[in-house]
Amino acid sequence: MTTAGNRTAEDGNAPIIVVEDLRKRYGDIQAVDGVSFSVERGEVFALLGPNGSGKTTTVEIIEGMRAADSGRATVDGIDVGKNPKAVKQHIGVQLQSSAFFEHLRLAELLKMLGSIYGLSVDPEPLLEAVDLAQRRSASFRTLSGGQKQRFAIAASLVNDPDVIFLDEPTTGLDPQARRRIWDLTLGWKAEGRTVVLTTHYMEEAEELCDRVAVMDGGRIIAMAPPGELIDDLIARGFEREHEVRLATLEDVFLDLTGRSLREF
Ligand code: ADP
Ligand code: MG
Repeated sequence: MTTAGNRTAEDGNAPIIVVEDLRKRYGDIQAVDGVSFSVERGEVFALLGPNGSGKTTTVEIIEGMRAADSGRATVDGIDVGKNPKAVKQHIGVQLQSSAFFEHLRLAELLKMLGSIYGLSVDPEPLLEAVDLAQRRSASFRTLSGGQKQRFAIAASLVNDPDVIFLDEPTTGLDPQARRRIWDLTLGWKAEGRTVVLTTHYMEEAEELCDRVAVMDGGRIIAMAPPGELIDDLIARGFEREHEVRLATLEDVFLDLTGRSLREF
């Protein structure tokens, strides 16, 4: 893994992702309707929004997995529409579990994924990063849901990417496993990597993100650091109906069951 500040770039100060007026239609549905934003190198950036608001479509266009109808996205200066293969060298994408060969052992799977990039991968540090070293000889098929999700994250790291895309990485995970993924994300940021994620958990966005973009109906309707969006809402006269409590049920759960992962 590369350490902070060592991640090479054509121009270290330019945004690593630039998205300009992306549009994508499926039949009658305008899934992405003129989306523009940029992401700075080393930033953790989230797309928030209700189901169907166009987050996954936007992210997959930037990953070079789907073609936009119009507009442009660049990653590290590479136009993803024109050169989707070159972009894949720079990015890590958390694959769906259906993308894995179910019967292969975890360590073998990581080596195989590395070979797709022409790389000889040591699976151990990747498995350790997601607390799956003890399951190195298990087949993917035998993992629990949370373990599969963590393995998919390890798999996204085989090419030592500058930018990591996580589409709802913590959906369905228990609070301990979610916090493990938060720690990983902040670790990548400390290494100088850029992370683009989507989430339905607002406390996750608040905890992790430098900036968030709120999407609705294929458009970005707000974009700022979480603290600024909260301050704006308060400045507009918003008040919570109930007194703010000093702890949440999640705090109770973590206090009772501890913060360490249960499944290794
Ligand atoms: P989100 O990730 O925010 O839930 P998506 O980008 O998945 O949103 O979807 C945006 C809209 O585009 C939704 O209405 C969805 O049903 C539609 N959509 C997404 N992918 C396809 C597809 N391959 N074919 C047809 N419609 C799609
Ligand atoms: Mg989605």
